[in-house]
Amino acid sequence: MNVFIKTYGCQMNERDSEAIAGMLTKEGCQIVDHESKADVLIFNTCSVREQAERKAIGKVGFMKKLKKDNPNLVIGIMGCMAQNHGEELLKTLSHVDFVIGTGQLHKLPEVLTSILEERSQLALLDEGCEVLTSMGSHYKMPDSKPCQAFIAVTRGCNRFCSYCIVPHVRGREISREINDVVEEAKELVSSGVKEIMLLGQNVAAYGLNGDTKPPPKGTSPFADLLKELNEIDGLVRIRFTSPYPSYFNDKLIDAMATLSKVCHNVHLPLQSGSDRILKKMNRQYTAEKYLEIANKMKQRIPDITFSTDVIVGFPGETEEDFIKTRDIMNNVGFDNAFIFKYSPREGTPAAIMEDQVQQEDKERRNQLLLQDLEERTAEHNENLVGTVQEVLVEGPSRRNAERWSGKTSTAKVVMFPPDEETERGKLVKVKINRCTPVSLFGDLI
Ligand code: SF4
Repeated sequence: MNVFIKTYGCQMNERDSEAIAGMLTKEGCQIVDHESKADVLIFNTCSVREQAERKAIGKVGFMKKLKKDNPNLVIGIMGCMAQNHGEELLKTLSHVDFVIGTGQLHKLPEVLTSILEERSQLALLDEGCEVLTSMGSHYKMPDSKPCQAFIAVTRGCNRFCSYCIVPHVRGREISREINDVVEEAKELVSSGVKEIMLLGQNVAAYGLNGDTKPPPKGTSPFADLLKELNEIDGLVRIRFTSPYPSYFNDKLIDAMATLSKVCHNVHLPLQSGSDRILKKMNRQYTAEKYLEIANKMKQRIPDITFSTDVIVGFPGETEEDFIKTRDIMNNVGFDNAFIFKYSPREGTPAAIMEDQVQQEDKERRNQLLLQDLEERTAEHNENLVGTVQEVLVEGPSRRNAERWSGKTSTAKVVMFPPDEETERGKLVKVKINRCTPVSLFGDLI
């Protein structure tokens, strides 16, 4: 049976799609690269923004024609949008055979068998813990990087930020056993993986059993996990995303500074630089605390780079609040930022807050932050011209096959002409001789 999987949204969804593909290929299915070649179409969806849902619904709607031409075609919607809208999707998109929510993804093979036998619509939407332990299979999707792999270490979120739909569609936070994660990492390394990215909606809350209080002083189960993974022979780099700032205590910062395989780049979601807005967002830190964490990391790891998420135009955000966000962003000096214009998500407290911000203010604030970001990144990259960087080789550049590209531990993209020994997954030294705001260019030494 040929299966086509289309993935929307975050890296967690990409990882889920890989795991789904792994499960299905074990059952004898083939993954194909175009919907026209498929017997089964799976849409692994996102609900974080309304636009992501609209896009997926539009695409699935378009599949009606394929189903008309081939009535045996099986079409399913999985993931966050399936969880969010459930059986309603089966009514509005009557050509869809099944919806599977985020807690039941591991049941896909059974669901497919049942659909093929009975040909009646099916919805599986319960929350479940088994999904965490049953989703360890890996499959290299055609567009994934050969030496890198994602490992999901937590699922769900208990923080309930007032704008966010994730806790409503991904359920309560659960963590995998440390040995389970380490075994998965070892298997990946034995298959040629050099870099792992640990994933979780709130990854640094790993091992806290859903407790929303940051770990007691001197403890960090997430740091313990990093330490275990750092011991794996053949593994070169460890990254993780996305951590909530309050979990960065001294123990975790110390682990990042001392464990040789943990990369010197951290995604530290800021969301706003105004304490008033942070409070309305139900973020449990102040701007001062955020800066204190970032500065501690800079002291312990001098070459560290930061990326972040920021929302502009959150309900009630004044010009003064926005300036505070702008200031803190320039102060930390992010190398990358995902800047979102606030859009209400039904079912979240922020969606019904009064004083929604005008679209034109959101646009203007977004542009200003993007300009600042470009300036900061250009400055940082200029400072690296003339230095020698250690680069993990990823492969030929997509735009210019005569160049190869790779990344530094600090997540900088480096382009260089290869020599006869250049190969994927190798660490090489590159002398940087020029840059743009997004990339560094150099020569092998
Ligand atoms: S911590 Fe992240 S995933 Fe959890 S509610 Fe807040 S924004 Fe959403």
